Amino acid sequence: GGGVIGRYCDHPERFPGVEHFHTMRVAQPNGKFYSTDFLRQLCDLWDFRGSGLTNMHGSTGDIVLLGTTTPQLEEIFFELTHKLDVDLGGSGSNLRTPAACLGESRCEYACYNTQEACYNLTMEYQDELHRPAFPYKFKFKFDACPNGCVASIARSDMSFIGTWKDDIKIDQEAVKAYVGGEIAPNAGAHSGRDWGAFDIQKEVVGLCPSK
Ligand code: SF4
Repeated sequence: GGGVIGRYCDHPERFPGVEHFHTMRVAQPNGKFYSTDFLRQLCDLWDFRGSGLTNMHGSTGDIVLLGTTTPQLEEIFFELTHKLDVDLGGSGSNLRTPAACLGESRCEYACYNTQEACYNLTMEYQDELHRPAFPYKFKFKFDACPNGCVASIARSDMSFIGTWKDDIKIDQEAVKAYVGGEIAPNAGAHSGRDWGAFDIQKEVVGLCPSK
């Protein structure tokens, strides 16, 4: 199945300490929200059954655990799935670990719920991860807006990018209030310095990429 990338040394008799040094991929939580309790358990497990070296996160999106031996693989898989409530990530010709930006959970730009989409597709296709059935790898990634924080276009075969439906809604009263100086630009973040009056031509119209 997926999730384990076998690494073997060509000269085990010369380097017995790294006879095997397998990588394990573990599915990252949606939006990469962790509790310290989970991270402690993961590190304890990897210190005990692996090298202790981690990569948070690989360019696949996974939690990457670097370096363990063949007899430890099933033990680690059991601990991950039964105690930490997390599954292996993808590798090889199968579904790769889906990844989502944190979207609606924190970001004001989100146009759809990336975490829900990512969760549902992960649950639907997780079997394809454990029993590779595809002729080649396949990746879904989810960006909730065109800023593309998970770089879904570059990193996946099928990218889901949130955009607007219908006309963009503009609160003309608020725009007037910005222009008139009643609302502080950028929520007051620049208030420590004098940036001059708000200039809609320079700061909005002149920066429009469609110009
Ligand atoms: S892709 Fe868009 S919605 Fe998602 S975190 Fe980035 S800016 Fe926010």
